[in-house]
Amino acid sequence: MATKRLVFNFPPNLIEQPLTYQLITDHKLKVNILRARVTPRERGRLVVEVSGSKKNLDAGLKYASDLGVEVKPLAQNVQWSEERCIECTACTSICPTGALSVEREQMRVSFNEDKCIACELCLPTCPYEAVQIIF
Ligand code: SF4
Ligand code: SF4
Repeated sequence: MATKRLVFNFPPNLIEQPLTYQLITDHKLKVNILRARVTPRERGRLVVEVSGSKKNLDAGLKYASDLGVEVKPLAQNVQWSEERCIECTACTSICPTGALSVEREQMRVSFNEDKCIACELCLPTCPYEAVQIIF
């Protein structure tokens, strides 16, 4: 069993494509939608966790890419800048997954990209733009 956290970027002509349904039924994958942003007639963005056998996962993601959906690993889309961060800890209480966390004794803030679901809650919280979403 393999699991991947991915970002699906849909061009406007594929917004209504039932991709997650097809991944579940045709490719026997488990699809957990972590975040969705779809604007009619514009691009759509879906952050998902997809699980299944490696063979099914590869086939399902190839199917999505062949359709014209851009498939990227989630970690490529969220960046934390240690240089910009002044470790004010404001983001650590708002981050729902603990991706941004503080080690209390040293008051050191760190970012674990494996835990990040790109919910973007930290973006308006950070006064120094230390966390950025790269589209
Ligand atoms: S986008 Fe920010 S708040 Fe959301 S999970 Fe990632 S680090 Fe945490
Ligand atoms: S809110 Fe910004 S500056 Fe403050 S700890 Fe988080 S990333 Fe660092």
